[in-house]
Amino acid sequence: MHELGIVVHVVKQVEKLAKENNVKEVVELTLEVGEVSGVVKEYFVDAFEWAKKRTEYMKNTKLNFIIIQGISYCEDCKDTFPTTQYGKTCPKCGGGNTYLVTGRDVSIKDIKVV
Ligand SMILES: [Zn+2]
Repeated sequence: MHELGIVVHVVKQVEKLAKENNVKEVVELTLEVGEVSGVVKEYFVDAFEWAKKRTEYMKNTKLNFIIIQGISYCEDCKDTFPTTQYGKTCPKCGGGNTYLVTGRDVSIKDIKVV
């Protein structure tokens, strides 16, 4: 499962940070999740609930999601457009000389600890 792999990776990172900073508990974790990262929020939350029981610092961590819009860039028009709306085809010129700029990643935005 795609989501579980990302969850395990994120949890490991946060646990490491918590340990290094002598944190008692991670209260809240805010993630930025790209629209086109392929992450399904429900699956991600399920995987997180499973994973956090096995952690040292994250047993009661509240998970927040910030969705980052998928933005693509057209090399020919030198302009951007929303990826989820138009896919790989530029809405201005109809060309496919485009690539994704943002919206693919899952990253840690904020961690609240006690
Ligand atoms: Zn274009």
